[in-house]
Formats: sequence, C-alpha cells, structure tokens
Amino acid sequence: MAGAQQKENYQRILDKTLEAIVKEGRTPRLLLHSCCAPCSSYVLEYLSQYFEITVFYYNPNIYPEEEYRERTKEQKRLIGEMKTANPIHFLEGEYDTASFYAAAKGHEKDPEGGSRCFRCYELRLREGAKTAKEGGFDYFTTTLSISPLKNAQKLNEIGIRLGQEYGVPYLQSDFKKKNGYKRSTELSSQYGLYRQDYCGCVFSRREEEAFACG
Ligand code: SF4
Repeated sequence: MAGAQQKENYQRILDKTLEAIVKEGRTPRLLLHSCCAPCSSYVLEYLSQYFEITVFYYNPNIYPEEEYRERTKEQKRLIGEMKTANPIHFLEGEYDTASFYAAAKGHEKDPEGGSRCFRCYELRLREGAKTAKEGGFDYFTTTLSISPLKNAQKLNEIGIRLGQEYGVPYLQSDFKKKNGYKRSTELSSQYGLYRQDYCGCVFSRREEEAFACG
C-alpha cells in the first residue's frame, strides 16, 4: 500500500551484527540502558556472550523514590550474582526527576504506550547516547524493547537517530523476540527478583490503581 511503512525485523538485524562481531573475533563495549533487573536479566544473559557490557541505570521517570531505590538495588544484586562469559559493569545515572516531568509536560493524561512514553524513551536513550559517547563505547542500546508493552519500532527509530547525532551506533534490537520476555520471567524467578506491577512513572501507577479499583 502506498505510504505504508514496512516493519523492520530488528532481531534479524541484531543477528547480523552479532555474526559480524563473532567473525571479527572482537568483544566490543556496549552501554546497555536498563529499566530494571527483571527486563535486563535475559538481555544480559544473551548479550554478555558477545560484549563487555556496562549497565547504565538512568530512570528519572520512576516514582516514588523508594521504588527507584528498590529497583536500583535489585539491578546491582543481579549483576553481582549472574555468571556471565564477559564482565558486566554498573553505572548509575542521575535521578533527575525534573527532566522527566519536563519531558512529560502536557502529556500527563496520555495512556501508557502513547506520546508521553515516546518522550520518556527519548529522554533515557539520549542520556545513554551521550554517556556512550563520553565513555568511548562501541554501541549503546536499551532493554526496554523486551516488554510486550513497549514499541520496539519507536525505540529503534529514536535510538538510530540519537546514535547518528552523538556518533555512537545504536545496537538495533527487539528483545521480546526469541522468547526473550518468557526467559526474563524465568530468570526473575531463578534470582528471586522483585517485579514491579506498574511501568514506573506516577502516571502509570495511577493507571494501574484505577484498573485495580475497577
Ligand atoms: S508509562 Fe512507562 S514508558 Fe510511559 S512515561 Fe511512564 S514510565 Fe515512561
């Protein structure tokens, strides 16, 4: 159909990138933005075979602060307990909640999956791209696409654009493929990880509560 956008197969693109990396016999450095320990579990198991990973925990969207602290603690615990082929490092970003509220301004009432979320993706990916550039990383990406509620097309579009802007390639991916989401639930049980029941921001928490109340 004229004007219709063809959906990319991001898993196929990732397969090709990984194939090339193996062929070249190198272990590139990857800055992996992570939203939480459960989502990162499968991605770490999978990608640590190919990369030296630094988990970048930058999530100023999370509300309230105790929830943020809990998720950070679980992320660090998982990294400490996982046995991986290559080392995994941890880097915490700033918990600058004002940046999130500025990005979400005017979109507070958008449903989950709408434009507020695209702004939230961009905020976190931009910080990832900037940090990857400063740290001399070979690639950056995010765990976010593992969630069935996250728009992988949008995440990759934003990531590719920011990668070009900052001069660090975005590792194109859709981690829900290859049963990634299912594997993340298995790993979460195996490591006894805390799994939150809302996406993260105050608006998504209100949505959950509204549903819970009927
Ligand atoms: S629902 Fe999730 S992705 Fe959307 S704005 Fe809130 S925290 Fe960000």
